[in-house]
Amino acid sequence: MTKNAAPSSRPCEVRAAVADFAPYTAGRSIDEIKEQYDLTQVVKLASNENPLGVSPVVQRVLREHAGMAFRYPRSGNTDLVRTLAEYHDIPADHIVVGNGSDEIIDLLIRVKAEPGKGNILTFKPCFSMYELQAKLCGVEMRQTPLNPDFTFPWDAYLSQADENTGLAFITSPDNPSGYAPPVTELEAAARSLPEQCLLVVDEAYMDFTHDQKKYSLLERLREFPNLVILRTFSKLFGLAGLRLGYGIMPPYLADYLWRVRLPFSVNIPAEVAGIAALRDDVFFRATYDATLAGRAYLTKELENLGFSVHPSQANFLMFQIPQDFALDAKGLFEELLKRGVIIRPLTSYGLPDRLRVSIGREDENRFFIRALQEIVNG
Ligand SMILES: *Cc1c(COP(=O)(O)O)cnc(C)c1O
Repeated sequence: MTKNAAPSSRPCEVRAAVADFAPYTAGRSIDEIKEQYDLTQVVKLASNENPLGVSPVVQRVLREHAGMAFRYPRSGNTDLVRTLAEYHDIPADHIVVGNGSDEIIDLLIRVKAEPGKGNILTFKPCFSMYELQAKLCGVEMRQTPLNPDFTFPWDAYLSQADENTGLAFITSPDNPSGYAPPVTELEAAARSLPEQCLLVVDEAYMDFTHDQKKYSLLERLREFPNLVILRTFSKLFGLAGLRLGYGIMPPYLADYLWRVRLPFSVNIPAEVAGIAALRDDVFFRATYDATLAGRAYLTKELENLGFSVHPSQANFLMFQIPQDFALDAKGLFEELLKRGVIIRPLTSYGLPDRLRVSIGREDENRFFIRALQEIVNG
């Protein structure tokens, strides 16, 4: 212990919500697994990152702007916001950019839900960030179990809403199943929620769907005064480590989020990288094509090995272990680790008999399938 560390035994009073707070469960890192199993090659298919890495165009822009790291970014990230407005063909006053869409989720909860009184709706299981930030804010969570086939039980969900419901979160395509509800269902939900309640549709994976109009209300924003859409640069755009996401919402609400957002949460490298990424059609296309090809390949190979694979609109697949299989999901996950493949157990999502694998590059997908074949065929 260093000389200046605080004694760990000192009783320290913190808020009750903090005292028993369980942090976000992140995927395991490559270095960690290399060390633990003494491996030279490790493939990470655990966090739905872009397997093609960072676009060469964006890398060049980042190098060109390295010398700007001493500067605070311009207040309001106006260049990035303007570029996003053009990209989506929407007015700029609808957009709030954040340090990942995680920051927008946090801001929405803090702006809309009254601690100790307000509540939010989610399905269960769901992306854990909604639950974590609600808990931290002292906001009640009303969770509705998904249907057994991972579609959305809307009646049960909507019946949980009352006059204190600030937000109703939906993930589409959903994590971890990859299911995307048809846009007609979202439309009906937006119209039937109480007036004060926002429908927040987290579209982190929408870029991977074959026809966004079938799944997203983005193009029909003006019809829905209570609609918020979340997007991110972390997945298809390959910038998870830079932390950049955004929300699209009614201007009055965007204004509140900008007022309370920490002033410099989106820095200059993130901002210039985001602008360059939006203009980089070649990289978008390459990622999209590689993902769809990889998704088809992995689905086929997993099914050949006897796993049941849930159909996915995203850059990952959820699959289930057959009942007569020698290992459970945790056992299989660990056998894969030993062979240098990191995927995602879904225990933290309450799905202990399933696993999630991100679509990788062709060589990574093959490496994963070879490791699985070795385990299955002994
Ligand atoms: C990965 C992911 C995000 C993105 O989070 P960032 O903070 O933008 O990296 C948001 N929602 C869901 C459901 C995700 O899986």
